[in-house]
Amino acid sequence: MKKIILMLLGLSAATLSPAAEDRVFALATAGEVDPALAERVRVRMEESSGAVVRMAPPVAMEPGQTLEAIGRAAAKTRAATDFGIIVLARSEPSQPQGVCLPHEHFAILNISRLEAGADAARLERRAMQEGLRVMTMLLDMAPCPFPLCVLVGYEKTGDLDQMSGSYCPPCLERFERVARDAGLRMVEKPIPEPASEPEAAPAAEPAPAPAE
Ligand SMILES: [Zn+2]
Repeated sequence: MKKIILMLLGLSAATLSPAAEDRVFALATAGEVDPALAERVRVRMEESSGAVVRMAPPVAMEPGQTLEAIGRAAAKTRAATDFGIIVLARSEPSQPQGVCLPHEHFAILNISRLEAGADAARLERRAMQEGLRVMTMLLDMAPCPFPLCVLVGYEKTGDLDQMSGSYCPPCLERFERVARDAGLRMVEKPIPEPASEPEAAPAAEPAPAPAE
């Protein structure tokens, strides 16, 4: 009898957990970060990765808080269906450029470091590139040795500007597979219209003369 009850409990727990392909990445800001910038970065991350990224509410941060502590606090705000949260934070320039702790399901990028020597367009691109990189880190994917891939290793922030803004084809393929295995929802691609063929010509009949 006891065994049966346990089995039933196990069953209901399985029912409560998010369904496959129901999990998403969350993107949030912390501190003074332009919400419009965050939204553009979100859209570009979705377009390049194919995985759904939702905009989450801004995360509170206190002065002097380390990047890691802000990230950890952000991870606590995750919704049940959030696979991981990525935070664009305006932290101190003395803090690291980014911290990613996959087992704690968060990544946090320091805008104060990313914007050094960059105009608005460059900052947006750098944040998107780092966003794409941490998405793969949260999924435990390895870096890529291919120079024309956003997942290649780099040294200085400015190096990002010379780097690709997207995954190379094998990395994209790998990302899609790993993301699906992790139950992540992918952006629905529009179903391509079948090549339009001219409709069967109506039976040849003289067109009626327009009424006078
Ligand atoms: Zn690659």
